[in-house]
Order: sequence, then structure tokens, then C-alpha cells
Amino acid sequence: MPRSLKKYKEKRDFSKTTEPKGKTKKTKKNIFVVQLHDATRLHFDFRLEISGVLVSWAIPKGPSPNPEDKRLAVRTEDHPLEYASFEGTIPPGNYGAGTVMIWDHGTYENIQEKKDPPIKMSEALEKGHIEVSLNGKKLRGNYSLIKIRPRGKQESWLLVKMNDSEANKDYKSIDKSAISGKTIKQIAND
Ligand code: MN
Repeated sequence: MPRSLKKYKEKRDFSKTTEPKGKTKKTKKNIFVVQLHDATRLHFDFRLEISGVLVSWAIPKGPSPNPEDKRLAVRTEDHPLEYASFEGTIPPGNYGAGTVMIWDHGTYENIQEKKDPPIKMSEALEKGHIEVSLNGKKLRGNYSLIKIRPRGKQESWLLVKMNDSEANKDYKSIDKSAISGKTIKQIAND
């Protein structure tokens, strides 16, 4: 939680002093979302807020909390932040036609920000080595995303759970919405 600047502001008339108004930046944490997408092929879309957009990867098998699973993640186009709250059906004939479920969502922290020198998310993306701590309903703890090769116009990455207390080798995917509790069929029938 940010410390309050209430007292600082009460004591000052900013029409008379040129001291900073202390417009505290909204300390909103960066978000992530995983959408299950029943398109031509069922896949998961993993999206991380980086520099004001949702940087995105399509993950055929979906994320796994088992550190032994290395999940192929193919980079797709950046999406707007608002996309994180989209759950519904993209009509036939449109790009990505099919039903989208918010499989998981939450906030994340950039692990490499604590390194010396700190590595920003935008740099980590550029370098092809991202480490994040996810705070979602299903996905929790540290994950790494490593770029393994460019593939045609698209980049191939691997999403792997790092070993920590949230690692789970007996994981079975629960394919219900993190916001509505619905299955993808139920969303499609809405
Ligand atoms: Mn998709």
C-alpha cells in the first residue's frame, strides 16, 4: 500500500506554492490474464501487461505448475489492456472466431526487477528471458518464459514453472472460468 500524502496536501495551497502536488501514480500492479480460447484449435492465451499493453503468447497445452512441463508459447500480437476482461464469443467469420474464457487472472511481479542492475519487463521481453511471480486464482508463484527461437514471423518461447512452494507435480487443469465459474460450453451457449 502506498503511504498517504493527505497531510502533505492539507498543509499546502498549490495555487501559491510551486512544491510538487504529489500526484501519486496509481500504484496498480501489472496484470496478467490467461484466456482459454476455443478457436480452430483449443488453446490458451497467456498475456502479461508490459508497457501499457498485453504482450501475448498462444500456449497450445496451457500453463502448468509442474516444473517438469515445458510449455510451448508462441508469441502473438499485443492486445489492449481491456482485453483482459473479455469473456464471450467472437462471431464466426471474424479473426479468432470462437469462445473465450477468462481461465485465470491476477497480478504479477517482475522477479528480475530485484536484480542488480534491475531488468525491466520491456528489457526482459527484448532479451527473451522473462521471470514473473504470478498472483492469480490458479497460477501462483514463479514462472519463466524463455525465447527459444524465432519461427517464421512468430517467436517460440517456453513457459516453465520455477521450483518453489507453489510448484505442483500432480496438477490437473480445471477448465472453468476464474470470473464466472462457467465451462467453455456454458459460455458458448450464453
Ligand atoms: Mn487465441
